[in-house]
Amino acid sequence: MTFLSVYRSLYKHYGPQSWWPGDTPFEIMVGAVLTQNTAWINVEKAIAHLKHGRALSLNKIAAMPAAQLARLIKPAGYFNVKAKRLQNFCRWLQQQGGEKVIREWDDDELRRGLLSVNGVGFETADDMMLYAFDRPVFVIDAYTRRLFARLGLIDGDEAYETLRHLFESNLSRRIKTRAQQVQMYNEYHALIVIHAKDICRKRARCSECCLRRQCPAALQPENLS
Ligand code: SF4
Repeated sequence: MTFLSVYRSLYKHYGPQSWWPGDTPFEIMVGAVLTQNTAWINVEKAIAHLKHGRALSLNKIAAMPAAQLARLIKPAGYFNVKAKRLQNFCRWLQQQGGEKVIREWDDDELRRGLLSVNGVGFETADDMMLYAFDRPVFVIDAYTRRLFARLGLIDGDEAYETLRHLFESNLSRRIKTRAQQVQMYNEYHALIVIHAKDICRKRARCSECCLRRQCPAALQPENLS
């Protein structure tokens, strides 16, 4: 079993996922901050509140009193912290000249810039890199760690950057063009999320899993605590 064969099996089973759910790159970036430590359904509610309050814009979020923003995004949880993070991010984006300006930056400069914002960690920055800016960056999250540790391809507790490089170096050997890498990383992360949420859950549903014939953990259910 390889990183590429897992992708092929998941894609064959679930089909294209067409992520990220969001109407504009800015909405995707807002969603990437709001989705920290919460289910996507709660993010959808928070974004709907922002839209309903005509507040889903860079300048409005940056200028709004923090308490008002916290009220609007309340469904996303940790709303005071997230309001602060969202404002940090929007003010930083304003200072750079906006989304169109940073879209022109190269991959390293853009990722470094996003990571410089207080409250934007690796996963949030890479969600933005991949889904808002179409950059070939593989997103690592807790679902990725759980699924691939069970598949025996990683330990699961490696540093974020170690895992990102591992996925990217394995996959980019076989997927040559940048556009194909972006497309594949986009689909692959979405497929990992859907599979880990529905099947390879904390309590795994191995009998329903499309990877069960190759998965070492499926044979050792005592390992799946
Ligand atoms: S067989 Fe079980 S442990 Fe392995 S990937 Fe599928 S659900 Fe997860």
